[in-house]
Amino acid sequence: MHKLHISTQFDSGAIEVVQLDRADDIQLRIRKDSAADFAQWFHFCLHGAAFQPVTLRFLNAGDSAYPKGWDGYQVVASYDRQEWTRIDTQFDGQEMTARLTPMAQAVYFAYFEPYSYEQHLDLLASAATSHWVTQQRLGSTVQGRDMTLLRITDEAGTTPIEQKKKVWMIARQHPGETMAEWFVEGFLERLLDADDAVARVLRDRCVFYVVPHMNPDGAVLGNLRTNAAGANLNREWAEPTAERSPEVLLVRQAMLDIGVDLNLDIHGDEGLPYNFVVGSEGTPGYSPRIAALEDAFKVAWAASCPDFQDRHNYGKTAPGQANLTLATNWIAQQFGCLAFTIEMPFKDNADLPDPLVGWSGERSKKLGASVLQPLLQWSA
Ligand code: ZN
Repeated sequence: MHKLHISTQFDSGAIEVVQLDRADDIQLRIRKDSAADFAQWFHFCLHGAAFQPVTLRFLNAGDSAYPKGWDGYQVVASYDRQEWTRIDTQFDGQEMTARLTPMAQAVYFAYFEPYSYEQHLDLLASAATSHWVTQQRLGSTVQGRDMTLLRITDEAGTTPIEQKKKVWMIARQHPGETMAEWFVEGFLERLLDADDAVARVLRDRCVFYVVPHMNPDGAVLGNLRTNAAGANLNREWAEPTAERSPEVLLVRQAMLDIGVDLNLDIHGDEGLPYNFVVGSEGTPGYSPRIAALEDAFKVAWAASCPDFQDRHNYGKTAPGQANLTLATNWIAQQFGCLAFTIEMPFKDNADLPDPLVGWSGERSKKLGASVLQPLLQWSA
């Protein structure tokens, strides 16, 4: 007889164990971020329950940061930490219950397919082997991890460097939104593909500035929404500080030094089962020119990728009502440019559901690759 145990001492591990006496009544609590009250992310390994019916009860799901996130949501599980599949999950408004009969003594559970700090370092290192890529260390996070910027362009192209458009992409301001870095991985793979015609033209027309991970501390700590100092980085853009939000301070300064013609800020949304974008319509500087750029980008993306749509979203912010502490609004206002927040689901894309995996890392990668198409049209 194996003894039941739950481990969280690994990258992004997070859960509180209330009761672990019997496999069919494991009682858990979703943990708060390390220095803030948001609670939603979980990631843990259950040992010793092979071939027994396991019931996981998340007792405080109804008190989490986004309780609506559990309606229609299914927990992901993995034996090999590579393939993550959805398991039977119910939510009664307070408690979330997930059931599985594990086929092995160790099984991992998570809110969404994880993307570890080691994977992040692998992504940077692998991109930096391309001769189109320059890796720049901008500075340190609160806990001393690297803030890294990738600059990507084809210097041997036909467009003079001073005429190239400056395209920014930042991801994982909210560290538990791991789909955002999967998105960047897919984006970079396609952008660095020597044989992809769209990528070739974009590398010529544009200089890309990509920050694949805005919040490495928060991710390692197993946080959903905040960094090691408890800051929600996507509310720090108006007045970032070296103590509370050095991650934003460093990237914002790089933007001010270099300039921005377009920014894409990549996120995951707990509630809506769709991929969608949020624009800058509530900013004081919003204009018919920006509105036309937004519409053209959305039309081009929806026409070329069935996983993107523009019918289901947050709705429009009223004129002048934008929160300028958000990256998208601050950047649009500061640079007078097109800026989008891109949201992917934690659940699934209800237009093209996949019962086995739901929305996944691989599907996020494919969506990241697909954004080259609207960029091609925008940059023409
Ligand atoms: Zn987010």
